[in-house]
Amino acid sequence: MLSVLDIFRIGIGPSSSHTVGPIRIGKRFADSLHREGLFETAARIEVILQGSLAFTGVGHATPKACILGLLGLEPETLDPHTADGLVARVENENILLLGGLREIAFNAKTDLVFDYETLPELHPNGMVMRAYDGQGALLRQQTYYSTGGGFIASIEQLRKPLEDDIVPGAEVPHPFGSADELLAICAEHDAAIHEVIYANEDAMRPRAETDAVLDRIAEVMNACIDRGLNTEGILPGGLKVKRRAPKIWEKLHGAPLSNEREQLFDWLNVYAMAVNEENANGGQVVTAPTNGAAGIIPAVLRHYCAGGQDKSSKNEKNIRKFLLTAGGIGLLYKQRASISGAEMGCQGEVGVACSMAAGGLAAVWGATPLQVTSAAEIGMEHNLGLTCDPVGGLVQIPCIERNAIGAVKAVNAARLALHASEKMKVSLDQVIETMRQTGLDMSTKYKETSQGGLAVNVVEC
Ligand code: SF4
Repeated sequence: MLSVLDIFRIGIGPSSSHTVGPIRIGKRFADSLHREGLFETAARIEVILQGSLAFTGVGHATPKACILGLLGLEPETLDPHTADGLVARVENENILLLGGLREIAFNAKTDLVFDYETLPELHPNGMVMRAYDGQGALLRQQTYYSTGGGFIASIEQLRKPLEDDIVPGAEVPHPFGSADELLAICAEHDAAIHEVIYANEDAMRPRAETDAVLDRIAEVMNACIDRGLNTEGILPGGLKVKRRAPKIWEKLHGAPLSNEREQLFDWLNVYAMAVNEENANGGQVVTAPTNGAAGIIPAVLRHYCAGGQDKSSKNEKNIRKFLLTAGGIGLLYKQRASISGAEMGCQGEVGVACSMAAGGLAAVWGATPLQVTSAAEIGMEHNLGLTCDPVGGLVQIPCIERNAIGAVKAVNAARLALHASEKMKVSLDQVIETMRQTGLDMSTKYKETSQGGLAVNVVEC
C-alpha cells in the first residue's frame, strides 16, 4: 500500500504534476549522476518536456521547477520566497550549480526543450533528462513521468506494474484495493476507516511520527489560508487576475450574524480561494491530492475541524481523523484510476479532492464507514466529466473558483450521505471506475493542454 502521507505533500505552487513533480525529477536525475559516477564529468544537462508538460508547462512554472530540481532542491524544504531569485540567477548568468555542488553551463532557452510533437508513451506528462560530457557525448538519458499529485516514476517503474501486475508499496496489516475491500475490513474489525488507515500507517512508522506529520500538514494548510486571506494583489502570469480572498474576508468580518446561513458558503469559498490564490502565486501549499485542487480539503478542514475563524477551538483528533479518512479515499483513486488532470481532466483533481473532503467530513460527523464511502461517492458523482481547460495555461481560471465550488459541494455530499441509512445505488468503486473510463474517453483537448474549453474561448488580454 502507498501511505496517506504520500497523498498530502508539502510543496510549492502552482501545480503538483507540472511543478512539484518536475522539481523531484530534476533532483532525482542529479542524484542518479552521483550514483552512476557521472556527476564530475557531466558538462551539460538537457531537459525535454513532452505532452501536457510542454503544452501548459510555461503557465504551470515547469521551467522554474526543472531548474530548482537540478539545483538539488526539494519541494518540501525549499523556500518559496527565494526560489524565483535562484532561478533568475541561472537564467541571467547561464550557470547552474548542479545538485547544489558543481557549476555547469546551462542555457534555459536552449537546454529546456518544449517538445509538442511527441506523445509520451506511458503517461501524458513525460520528461526526458539527458546529461552530456564536455565533448557533447551523451553520458546518461532517463525518461521520467510526473504522474499527478507530485508522484513521479521512471519509465521502468511505470512499465513494471503493467508487465508483472505488481503495485509497489509497503506491507501493511490491512491492504485494500477497493472501497468494498476497505468496508469489509472495517466490518471484520469493527473499525472506522481512519482506524484501518492508522493500523496500516503504523506498519510504516511509529504512530507519533504519523501524528506529527499529519499535524504539520494541517499547519501548512492553515498557514496557507492565512497568507491568502491577507495578501492582496495581481497574480503572476499575464492574465491580470486579481486576488479576491482578502476582500471577501474583510467583508465577512464586518457582516451581521443574521446572514449566518449564507455565510457558510462564504467561509468555505474564502478559505478555498485563499489557498488557490497562494498556489497560483507559487506559494507553499499541500497537494490535496494535487496543487490545482489544493483548496478544497483545507477549506473544509479549517471550517469544521480547525476552529474556523476561531482557531483556538481546533480539535486535533478530528483533524487527524479527517486527513486519514480523506487520504484513504485518495489512495483508492490513486490506485484504481489516477489523480492527474493530464490523464483524467479536472474530475481527477477537483473531483477527487471533493470526494476526499466529503468522506473526511462525514467521518468527523460520525458517519458509518458505509456512509463515509457514500459521501465520497456523491462528491465524485457530480464532478464526473469535469474538464481541465486552464486559461493561458495558468492555474487560475477556472481553478481558483472551482475549488470554492468544490468545497461547498463536498459539505453537501457529506450531508446527503449522513441522511442515508442504507446502501446507495452507486458505490464508490463504481464511481471511481466511471471517472477512469470517462477520463480515458475525454478528448486530449480537455486534459491539461489548454487547447479546448475556456482556454480557447476566453480572450487573454
Ligand atoms: S482546471 Fe482543474 S485540473 Fe486543470 S489545472 Fe485547473 S484545477 Fe487543475
